[in-house]
Amino acid sequence: MKRPLTYRPAQQPSRYEQRRDADQRRGSAAQRLYGARWRAARLAYLAAHPLCVMCEAKGKIEAAEVVDHVRPHRGDLQLFWDEANWQSLCAPCHDRDKQSAERRGVLKPWGDDAWDR
Ligand SMILES: [Zn+2]
Repeated sequence: MKRPLTYRPAQQPSRYEQRRDADQRRGSAAQRLYGARWRAARLAYLAAHPLCVMCEAKGKIEAAEVVDHVRPHRGDLQLFWDEANWQSLCAPCHDRDKQSAERRGVLKPWGDDAWDR
């Protein structure tokens, strides 16, 4: 049996082109992959480490909102996924830490901030 002829008008993008354009809108494959994996990982980490470690060191009890990378990962995936390199911080401590890092000239890469929260 012959399959009915299908054709697409020339101006309509192919499935490949549609997917490629959607990828460009969503960001890179890595950003999507690590975005979803990181969201799950940071939630689990915050559940296990719910208090801000910097406040705790000062005797304050503060709920953490951010999983911070102690050493800036700068895109290094091994460092990024190393839980030993993570710490729970409240937003003020995270921002203070980031500002002092900026003052010291140890700027964290774009990825840290976008992924920490
Ligand atoms: Zn804090």
